[in-house]
Amino acid sequence: VTESTALVYRSHGVPSQVVQLETHKLPALEAKSALVKMLAAPINPSDINMIQGTWRTAAVFSEDDLVTVPSDISVLSAASLGVNPCTAFRMLSDFESLMPGDTVIQNAANSGVGQAVIQIAAAKGIHTISVVRDRPDLQQLTDRLKAIGATYVIKEETLRKPEMKDIFKVCPRPKLALNGVGGKSATELLRHLQTGGTMLTYGGMAKQPVTVPVGALIFKDVKVRGFWVTQWKRDHKHDEALRVMLEELCTLIRAGKLSAPPCTEVGMKDFHKALDNAMKPYISSKQILVM
Ligand code: NDP
Repeated sequence: VTESTALVYRSHGVPSQVVQLETHKLPALEAKSALVKMLAAPINPSDINMIQGTWRTAAVFSEDDLVTVPSDISVLSAASLGVNPCTAFRMLSDFESLMPGDTVIQNAANSGVGQAVIQIAAAKGIHTISVVRDRPDLQQLTDRLKAIGATYVIKEETLRKPEMKDIFKVCPRPKLALNGVGGKSATELLRHLQTGGTMLTYGGMAKQPVTVPVGALIFKDVKVRGFWVTQWKRDHKHDEALRVMLEELCTLIRAGKLSAPPCTEVGMKDFHKALDNAMKPYISSKQILVM
């Protein structure tokens, strides 16, 4: 292989308009470099936000920067593994010490990260309260998230209703709130945290700032933190922690306890359609470019 087909952009704008399919000559292989053939790559919101040019059929990396994935993991699981499941795993591991029977509350529960949170938490015996946006097929979505291990699936509006008290008669108030949305949704999550609990922001799909009520800080001493998986990987590139995490995630995948979110596989030449679909609300399907 001497060439790679790549989706690239040279100006910012509507992704399906500014991204172009191009053929690039690959750099010559050197003693410590490795040629990697890409099989599939998801279109994640951060790609859309930054138009980063992630998606290509082949690339040359320094071998030190690569981690191998076992070959018995499906291509779709492997393509999605590096971002969303790693984010979910770290957020559940590094901020609160969660024991079986504890509770985590999260918004954007239907996202790739949210579905990984549900499955990893379920495998550890942790309850999840999963908050999603209302939609005509809410029951179908609720059933699907419960089938992968969600304890409760509720609409954003329910966060403000007295019926939340019924949930907390059955499971303890959450130690950890995972916020991928921001705005009002984040403030509502905070209201339900245990005293001393943590709200961890990892995404801002609503493009609204997080407002922390003064009372939550004074009377409940909540911790407000953030997480970025890219930085974690930079900091732990050569650590045992990275290998241990990937092994644990692959063990869950093999055991059928962690599956990729529903996906639509799209050939690279149909990227316009995939980019437009990736930006549609309520699409409930991760667009995966297959090479
Ligand atoms: P997906 O593309 O899988 O899902 C997007 C989710 O966002 C859907 O659940 C969608 O809900 C929800 N959503 C979209 N717009 C809104 C809105 N206005 N209000 C509430 N919910 C909304 O996303 P990913 O799991 O790949 O990523 C989710 C977020 O996490 C993104 O912000 C991404 O940038 C961030 N992220 C951050 C990482 C980090 O390290 N900090 C790592 C990975 C992701 P619906 O079904 O209702 O449309």
